[in-house]
Amino acid sequence: MTATRSPSIDMIRSLVAFPTVSRDSNLELIDFVRELLRPYGAEVRLTFDDGRRKANLFATVGPRGPAGLVLSGHTDVVPVDGQDWASDPFALVEQEGRLYGRGTSDMKSFIAIALAALPQFVPRLNRPLHLALSYDEEVGCIGVGRLIGDLAQANVKPSGCVVGEPTRMTPVIAHKGKRSYRCEVRGRAGHSAYAPDAVNAVEAAAEGVAYLKGMARRLRDSGPYDRGYDVAHTTVHTGVIRGGTALNIVPHECSFDFEVRHLPGDDPAALLSEFKSHIATRIEPEMKAIESRAGFEIRQMSEIPALDTSAETEIVALVHELTGTTEVGKVSYGTEASQFQRAGIASVVCGPGSIEQAHKPNEFIEVAQVEACEKFIAKLMGRLTA
Ligand SMILES: [Zn+2]
Repeated sequence: MTATRSPSIDMIRSLVAFPTVSRDSNLELIDFVRELLRPYGAEVRLTFDDGRRKANLFATVGPRGPAGLVLSGHTDVVPVDGQDWASDPFALVEQEGRLYGRGTSDMKSFIAIALAALPQFVPRLNRPLHLALSYDEEVGCIGVGRLIGDLAQANVKPSGCVVGEPTRMTPVIAHKGKRSYRCEVRGRAGHSAYAPDAVNAVEAAAEGVAYLKGMARRLRDSGPYDRGYDVAHTTVHTGVIRGGTALNIVPHECSFDFEVRHLPGDDPAALLSEFKSHIATRIEPEMKAIESRAGFEIRQMSEIPALDTSAETEIVALVHELTGTTEVGKVSYGTEASQFQRAGIASVVCGPGSIEQAHKPNEFIEVAQVEACEKFIAKLMGRLTA
């Protein structure tokens, strides 16, 4: 590929080239950004995962002092395993007004465009600007919590945050919350010819999954609804199930993973207690009658709070001004914005590209979206240098 003359596209190419799939390290990308920020006298704070294989980066450029604005994005991308790509997912390909590569839409372009704008604006900033890059977003917004905790400890209080997930540059002020759970079912093994003397963990799990499906149907059919969302109600979904070894063995173990994606007004804890009470009263008694240690164990794996930013906040007004729209969107997927929001940092989601292209083979971003985001960042920098 020939190099373009666009600093933004060159930066997108650089970031896409780091294969920062969530399960792998992102430290090379973090080091790259750190080096990039060095000439600007950036103050950089890193927070690591337990194994120190991944890091969040929080950088401040411009004058220190008054509360600054955060531009935030996650560095990790979803895997490409088993997907049929027409080109190397980690080598940017520019074709007919589109840039192809893993993470182009979700969501390295936003970060790249902000980084590419720094040389032009940092020397003139008269208010601080923060960049927040996180790890492990795609596996449940796990990484950013440490970054936010570190800010609280260091008493850094930004005035607002723009999370650049792909919204086609439409300001999004609300999204659903998500909780994910792993449910381990323990039974008692046995010869299948003597099945009634054993406790079949796969069947018990299936009854649990069926109950969750019933809850999902009820929420679909009777709400509550918020028509601002493309999926207007809370959803419940089981995505993984594992259990059993052979047909002639009564399985003693089975586990399944499920999630609840809830409207800001719905209480996911109430749905979980309903499920637990069904298990305790309708599924476990029969299991425990045969084996006292049989039963269900549910563990929460991740939690993303819902986002519900008031349309009256300063950050919403600013993003409206920068995008030239008064639209406010609501989306069904979760983002890190709600964690910033919960920490008292008013947040809006607004970034280039479309969620339609995210997580898919041949993920791309339209060059027009890159340009729209460049305008947004330039206007924002104009505000911060005025
Ligand atoms: Zn994303």
